[in-house]
Amino acid sequence: MAERIAVIGAGQMGNGIAHVFAQAAFPVTMIDVAQAALDRGKATIEKNLDRQLKKGTIDQASKDATLSNVTLATDLGAARDASLIIEAATENVALKYKIFGDLDRLAQPDAILATNTSSISITEIAAKTGRPDKVVGMHFMNPVPVMKLLEIIRGLATSDETTARVVSLSSALGKTPVEVSDYPGFVANRILMPMINEAVYCVMEGVGTPEAIDTVMQLGMNHPMGPLTLADFIGLDTCVAILEVMHQGLGDPKYRPCPLLKKYVAAGWLGRKTGRGFYKYA
Ligand code: NAD
Repeated sequence: MAERIAVIGAGQMGNGIAHVFAQAAFPVTMIDVAQAALDRGKATIEKNLDRQLKKGTIDQASKDATLSNVTLATDLGAARDASLIIEAATENVALKYKIFGDLDRLAQPDAILATNTSSISITEIAAKTGRPDKVVGMHFMNPVPVMKLLEIIRGLATSDETTARVVSLSSALGKTPVEVSDYPGFVANRILMPMINEAVYCVMEGVGTPEAIDTVMQLGMNHPMGPLTLADFIGLDTCVAILEVMHQGLGDPKYRPCPLLKKYVAAGWLGRKTGRGFYKYA
């Protein structure tokens, strides 16, 4: 069956997901409530394609074909004909429940409803729909066009057929799918977020400057970037949201977000996307 893709949310992740599907020759509709976010998302896809063009990994015809596979919409109804809908809207439980309730009503009966959530329970999102067997987590990594991993999360009711379809699609995108079970934070963030949070505690307690902490982890642990640089890249609001879901869902105080991390978010210092986080960006 020829898949038709809809991506909900045109932010950092949404435009990356639309990019990789469009580049693999799938027609993609990118949907966001904000026209400005759609315009920014499309411009980002074009900028990233230009980078690939410069590197010689794609040619002009492939860039043009990719862009022509992406259409934009501000109405969720534009997902009506899609066979796979991937939600990549803001990390907020109530928002995701609402979107999945709406999608369940308007999508084709056999459409798969996937979410790119970093931490929210796939099982609970699925329970907001009448098709829990067709709800699955497709957790892409940032930046999507570059990162190879695709964490596939099975909710309690996700069927083997749904899992097989998204695993096969992941491979068609050139990604490496890894199947995991549905627990808060899954695997990637269950391990990553406590490290980022601990790095923020180190800043708060004056153990080291952000530069010192990142250098220790880069040179000492061979990480390609330090945890605070990575947190700025992910978005500090997203980091807090993920830690809160893990704290609540696992009930262990070790997952409580560091007060300094919450203070940065309250100040609007969300990382790269706002020009300031643990570092300043031009
Ligand atoms: P973002 O803030 O860059 O983008 C979110 C977009 O969702 C915005 O453009 C916003 O306008 C849009 N949106 C909000 N409500 C909407 C609605 N009702 N319908 C359609 N669009 C709506 O956030 P992001 O970093 O792209 O994160 C999106 C999702 O991906 C989150 O669930 C996040 O946890 C997950 N994720 C993020 C990362 C990361 O590194 N940032 C990595 C993996 C997964």
